[in-house]
Amino acid sequence: MNLSAQDLETENAALREELERARVELRHLEKNKRSFTALAAHELRTPLTILFGYAKLLSDGGESEAHEYTDIIATYAWQLKNTIDSIITLQQIDTGELVLNLQALPLAEISENALISRQREIVEKAVEIRSDLEKDLYVQADRERLLLVFAQLLSNSIKYTPHAGTVTVEARAKQASVVISIRDNGIGIPPEELPHIFERFYQTGDPLTRQYNGLGLGLAVAKELVELHGGRIWVESTYNQGSAFHFSLPRAKPGVQPNAKVNRSARLIA
Ligand code: ADP
Repeated sequence: MNLSAQDLETENAALREELERARVELRHLEKNKRSFTALAAHELRTPLTILFGYAKLLSDGGESEAHEYTDIIATYAWQLKNTIDSIITLQQIDTGELVLNLQALPLAEISENALISRQREIVEKAVEIRSDLEKDLYVQADRERLLLVFAQLLSNSIKYTPHAGTVTVEARAKQASVVISIRDNGIGIPPEELPHIFERFYQTGDPLTRQYNGLGLGLAVAKELVELHGGRIWVESTYNQGSAFHFSLPRAKPGVQPNAKVNRSARLIA
């Protein structure tokens, strides 16, 4: 086929445009990579510095404060572990390596354990916790991953709520599912940011003036994990008034379901 000079020119122009788009995209990726590295370094370094500091105070003989110091060390060690766990979990999901060990779990017990894991933050910010769980609810879930989702949403609701705020945990059966809701009366999320908050590394507000720690991975991990369980996660929020994060999971009856293992690439493997 013979192309006319004009066809060739059009084709070249399209190629040039495509190249320019690729260049812009590459610059964007590079920039993201750099800001991720800076953010990750900061998020890993800060708790480590605090851990070293308090470990040194302890070894220098701060006996009377030993209890307080070990508490602080435990909190920052948890924060560090949580950051690393989020990165590893996303990596396992991306490579199809993450396997869920599904069983019928009592929701009240999971909620209680998640609250215990966030006890220090709750006390520090004098947050009032209200619990309104329908009785005897069981969900078909992986214990460790469900705890992670619960603890992440609780942690966010405490972090983004001012001192002495209120956080409510609710659970209701809806046909074959259970819907769990974690509400706060905190800072809320501007409507234009709502569609993005479950994206990896997304954080609302101006990065230069942000006063909250975090990598912007918590909600992305929660979403992936809930969806791997066959559930859904969504948010309702009013800026300056508060947020409600809801997620659904398959309902279970105690002891009836056999254990099952599930991963992303082969949903049912045992
Ligand atoms: P981060 O590590 O920044 O907390 P997340 O993925 O957990 O990352 O959350 C993404 C963004 O969504 C947060 O940076 C915050 O701006 C917003 N967000 C999450 N939970 C809440 C909440 N309960 N109230 C207000 N904003 C929230």
